[in-house]
Amino acid sequence: MNFELTEEQRLLKEMIKDFAQKEIAPKAKSLEDSKEFPRELLNRLGELGILGMTVPPEYGGVKTDYLSLMLALEEISRASPALAVIICVHCALFCYPILRFGDEKQKEKYLPKAAKGEILGAFAMTEPGAGSDATNLKTKAVRQGDFYLLNGTKAWVTSGSEAEASILFASTEIEPGGKKLSAFIVERDFPGFTVSKIEEKMGLHSSLTAEITLEDCKVPAENLLGEEGNGAFIAFQSLDSSRIGIAAQAVGLADKALREAVNYAREREAFGKKIAEFQAIQFMIADMSTLTDAARLLTHKAADLKDREKPFAKEASMAKLFASEASNKIVYQALQIHGGYGYSREFLIEQLYRDARVLSIYEGTSEIQRIIISKHLLKEQ
Ligand SMILES: Cc1cc2nc3c(=O)[nH]c(=O)nc-3n(C[C@H](O)[C@H](O)[C@H](O)COP(=O)(O)OP(=O)(O)OC[C@H]3O[C@@H](n4cnc5c(N)ncnc54)[C@H](O)[C@@H]3O)c2cc1C
Repeated sequence: MNFELTEEQRLLKEMIKDFAQKEIAPKAKSLEDSKEFPRELLNRLGELGILGMTVPPEYGGVKTDYLSLMLALEEISRASPALAVIICVHCALFCYPILRFGDEKQKEKYLPKAAKGEILGAFAMTEPGAGSDATNLKTKAVRQGDFYLLNGTKAWVTSGSEAEASILFASTEIEPGGKKLSAFIVERDFPGFTVSKIEEKMGLHSSLTAEITLEDCKVPAENLLGEEGNGAFIAFQSLDSSRIGIAAQAVGLADKALREAVNYAREREAFGKKIAEFQAIQFMIADMSTLTDAARLLTHKAADLKDREKPFAKEASMAKLFASEASNKIVYQALQIHGGYGYSREFLIEQLYRDARVLSIYEGTSEIQRIIISKHLLKEQ
C-alpha cells in the first residue's frame, strides 16, 4: 500500500492547482452570481488537455490514469464546484462511454473534438418521471430506415443546453419483452432536439442544467452507441466510473470549506480572543479535517482499483456516499464557525453550503448508493 502520489501525478496536481487558483477562482463568484456558463474557462482547460483525460492520444487526448483525473477534479472543485461537475460529466459520462462502447467511426468523429474542448458532452438519462428508477424511461426510439425517431423528455441534463452532443438513453422496446434501453449519441443540432427549460437551482449556478424535449428527433442509425438493448449496461458502467468523480468534487468542495473556516476562526474575535482558541471551534475543525481525509482516501481507493482493472463499483458507491454526505456535514460546520456572516452572500461558505446539497442526490442518491453497496456485499457472502 502506497499513499504517495507518483511524480507525474504530483506535477499534474500542482499544475492544475496553480491554474485553478490563478484562473478559475478569481472568476468563479462572478460566474455563479450571473449564472454564466464558464465557456472560456472550458476552452482553456481544453487547451491544457484536461477535457481529454479519459481519451487516449490516438483520438487526440492525453489519457491519464483515473486517479489523476480525480486529483484534477478535486483541485478544480476547490475553485469552482460547478466547473468540476461539467468536466466530470464530459470526461466520465460522455468521452468514456464513446471510448468504451463506440465504434471506430464514432470515436474518430467525436473524441478528438471532445478531448480538445471543441465540443462539450452531456449525459441525458433522467426523465421527469424516472430518476432513481433510471431504466423506467418513457422516451422512445423507433427505427425508420437509416434513422431512429426519438420522442420524449429528458430532465436535469448537466450542460444540456450548452453541450454540442449528449449520450442519450431511450427505450427501443417496441413490444413487451423486446430490446429495452438503447444509448444514442445525439447532437444538439439534430432536427427535433429542443432545450425546453433551464432549471432554476439552489446552487451550482454556472453549471446550467436543462430539460430537453425530443419531438421526432431524427438520429442517424450510425449514432446508436453499442448494441440496441445495451443502454442500461452502458449507463450503469459509465455511472460507476463517474461517481468517483463526484466524490472528488465533494472532497474539493469540503476541503475549500474547511480552509475558509480555519481562516475565519483565526481572524474573528469574541470574548477578547480569536474564536480559534475555543475548544468548541477546534473540535469542529478536527472533525471536518478527519472527514475530508477519509473521503479523499475512499475516493483514491476507488480510482486506484479502477486503474488496476479490479472491480470497483462498490468502492465507487462507498466513496460517493461518504464524500457527498461528509461534505454536507463539513459545510454545515464551516458555516457555523462563520456565525451570522456565514449566512451572508459576501462569504464564500454561503455558496459552498448551497453547492454541496446536490452531491448526495445526483448520479444516484445516497439511498441508491446504499442499495448498490449492500447488493454487492450480500452477493459476496
Ligand atoms: C443539479 C442536477 C444535475 C443533474 N444532472 C444530471 C445529468 O447530467 N444527467 C442525468 O441523467 N441526470 C441528472 N440529474 C438527475 C439526478 O441523477 C436525479 O435527480 C437523481 O438520480 C434522483 O432522481 P429523482 O430526482 O427523480 O428522485 P427520485 O428518484 O424521485 O427520489 C426521491 C427520493 O426517493 C428516494 N428513493 C427512490 N427510490 C428509492 C428506493 N428504491 N429505495 C429507497 N429510496 C428511494 C430517493 O433516494 C430520494 O430520496 C441531475 C440532478 C440535479 C439535481
